[in-house]
Amino acid sequence: MKIDRIRSLYVRAEWDYHEPLGEAHLSRPASIYPELAADPAWPLDTAGGPPYTTTAHFLLIDTDDGGSGICGPVDAEDIAIIQRHFADLLIGEDPHAIERIWDKMYRVAIHGRKGSQMMALSKVDLALWDLKGKLLGAPVYQLLGGPSRDSIRAYASMLGFSVAPDKVIERTRHFLAQGFTAFKWFLPCAPKDGEAGIRRNLAVIRAAREAAGPDADLMFDAWSSWNVPYTLRMIELSRDYRPYWFEEPVLADLIPQYAELRREARGVFISGGEHEYTRWGVKALLDARAVDILQADVTWAGGISEMQKICALASANAIPLIPHHGGWASTHLIASQTVTACPMQEWLIQHGRHANVFYRDKLIPVDGHIPLPAAPGLNMDLAANVEIVEERALNS
Ligand SMILES: [Mg+2]
Repeated sequence: MKIDRIRSLYVRAEWDYHEPLGEAHLSRPASIYPELAADPAWPLDTAGGPPYTTTAHFLLIDTDDGGSGICGPVDAEDIAIIQRHFADLLIGEDPHAIERIWDKMYRVAIHGRKGSQMMALSKVDLALWDLKGKLLGAPVYQLLGGPSRDSIRAYASMLGFSVAPDKVIERTRHFLAQGFTAFKWFLPCAPKDGEAGIRRNLAVIRAAREAAGPDADLMFDAWSSWNVPYTLRMIELSRDYRPYWFEEPVLADLIPQYAELRREARGVFISGGEHEYTRWGVKALLDARAVDILQADVTWAGGISEMQKICALASANAIPLIPHHGGWASTHLIASQTVTACPMQEWLIQHGRHANVFYRDKLIPVDGHIPLPAAPGLNMDLAANVEIVEERALNS
């Protein structure tokens, strides 16, 4: 059996969603430039809805005996990179030989070992694991040594929701009532916003603790837009509200600064790693003792193949891995690792609900936990009501 075709699908679906979208203004690294301070657009035109018409790209890898693996939604940029660098390389390969295929792609894309090319390579890896699961008739977490548990504790990740304190209280209570015991809010202000910004950030933290009660875990994401003194000040001012972690306080390349923060944070954890790639990138973070919680992304850092190696590295350093987002791919990876190695999954509510529009198997936390799926593969197959607008061959 050989891989004989690589395809992309451009698909369209209706999303009958009545919650607000993209309410919050977030602090991001580029926000220091006023002309770049606006939030990134949602991947759909919200003018006419709901229901919204929404589109996505999916990647397919086919075999000469009729097998097919799928991964998506993926970006248009992923598709362009896969077509240019990887598609022809895959033709004729044994689809089971993922380790060999990963290494071939890595060696060809040696200038792209971090960033967009590694993100595209990750999507190929995921489609290959989906294909292998289907060929062997098993969920991917079983092929990886799982399941380590029946369901995975999820944390409610509030990206896109308003950070007005009354809204923070309302939404935290809403998801607490649904059974979530951990919540992550994205803080709106950075050093450029001065003392008033510190008060705004603190108001979010205070509101989240007031609504979540004394027992919940509360996490706060600075989206790489702070500096060391500002982060230490936020940690000290928020100590009474017992934050579990502050995420990506500084730019991903400032590894010694992460380590300095971790040494100084005294009981508040520093997390990061979603913008790091491969075993080698993560090893540098771990060697520098830069993070208490590692957050590599299975859809960016090299796919499931590479994340298994990253899990082993993190485990050897006694650092829990709580992957950034990742949807179904994260579920399968986490379910293959022990509860100490991968204790929890991020449930990015708005993005996760949007991805569900396209999926046959919807990822829906129940009582704050993600039930493990039973179908073969990675559960990224398209729902019957998704319309295929365009199908394109990516290999020549
Ligand atoms: Mg983050």
